[in-house]
Amino acid sequence: MVNPAHSVSYVTPTRTSAWGTYLAQVDRIIPYLGDLSGLVGTLTRPKRALIVDIPIRMDDGSVQHFEGFRVQHSLSRGPGKGGVRYHPDVTLEEVMALAAWMTVKNAAVNLPFGGAKGGVRVDPAKVSRAELERITRRYTSEIGIIIGPQRDIPAPDVNTDAQIMAWMMDTYSANVGGTVSGVVTGKPVALGGSLGRVKATGRGVYLIGCDVAKRRKLSLGGARIAVQGFGNVGSVAAELFVQAGARIVAVQDHTGTVYNAKGLDVAKVVTASRSTGGLPSLAGADVISGDDFWNVESDVLIPAALEGQITAERARKLKTGFVIEGANGPTMPEADEILEDRGITVVPDVIANAGGVTVSYFEWVQDFSSFFWTEEEIERRLENILLPAFHNIWDLHLEQKVTLRTAAFIIACRRVLQARSLRGIYP
Ligand code: NAD
Repeated sequence: MVNPAHSVSYVTPTRTSAWGTYLAQVDRIIPYLGDLSGLVGTLTRPKRALIVDIPIRMDDGSVQHFEGFRVQHSLSRGPGKGGVRYHPDVTLEEVMALAAWMTVKNAAVNLPFGGAKGGVRVDPAKVSRAELERITRRYTSEIGIIIGPQRDIPAPDVNTDAQIMAWMMDTYSANVGGTVSGVVTGKPVALGGSLGRVKATGRGVYLIGCDVAKRRKLSLGGARIAVQGFGNVGSVAAELFVQAGARIVAVQDHTGTVYNAKGLDVAKVVTASRSTGGLPSLAGADVISGDDFWNVESDVLIPAALEGQITAERARKLKTGFVIEGANGPTMPEADEILEDRGITVVPDVIANAGGVTVSYFEWVQDFSSFFWTEEEIERRLENILLPAFHNIWDLHLEQKVTLRTAAFIIACRRVLQARSLRGIYP
């Protein structure tokens, strides 16, 4: 049951929905907020939510309407920041949760941003490239009234990439008159994008995974890793772990699940995933059922697909050493408790996948100064920001005897509420 104190009239979250999951995570940390708990209501409702209609002339001449959203959950610590998702199941409630997790993530890493997220209810596989461009441009125009380099800066997420960011940047620029490269991050490098951005989220997952492995005295040489979702985040993290000597024993994506105890070839998995046969067409691997993915024995499990994947039932049977959340919101609250009881450490999304937004922050800074850094510089700065932020969370988790998620939420929400308190409640 969701705490009635957090209810708003426009969504009806359940205990297992994305927004319900977020609210349960906030509820857990209220006792740690001290005087700031009086402002917690500013975390349990979004500051602003925009719903837009996207009418599109399709290639066959007909007009179709798509639903689009941009939610600014909090702007207390800076402009909104968060990706745009293209998926047929996107809802306002999901985007609210994703925006809220961005608030927490940006504060956990101490980036000068609030939290925002966007989404369009579309299956990109079912529209042409030209239709996708028109959807992107109309969506950008519609949310143009609330985004901007000092207001809210979108970035890629599920099913959106550098090309889509280029169309967004061009549309926003055309509408305001000029070239505004800082309105989105994750752009192509030729348009003011940052080196290292494409791999940044996967690299962050890897850096944090190495840190936890060291603390757990787990050698990555031969370590078994299972990955759900083999897109930008999952495939890059897998590649880096393999370079460090680990084996990817199981991969699941939307096309199927494959297993090989000796280790899968990451490049071939990516190719198979994109082919018409999907993962089941991969040679040299056993095709297993989707359910069996959760029975695979591994040292590290990386959920890197969508939210709500680790349910209570799956948490009860997982055979893994620790979980690093590449995806946003992959673990349901009840599952979190079960994993805690079972002694399986979960490194939460709000720090595990913060590498992407950290390099997005670098991109935004570089765009303002029109002066660009080398890839080595970016990797060094990423490590210098991400690991100390993670160490703070780790220390608080030991000190307060709470999960890493609770520790991350305590640190982040205190920062957000301190900013809110200093700014005051207007009027
Ligand atoms: P992507 O579109 O590149 O890849 C998504 C992957 O998930 C694909 O391999 C797809 O096949 C798989 N997938 C989709 N539905 C699935 C299902 N039902 N079961 C199994 N697999 C499924 O997306 P991405 O950018 O890699 O994002 C993945 C996750 O990481 C999302 O939760 C996203 O919010 C989060 N994330 C992404 C970034 C980033 O920089 N891209 C940053 C932080 C967090």
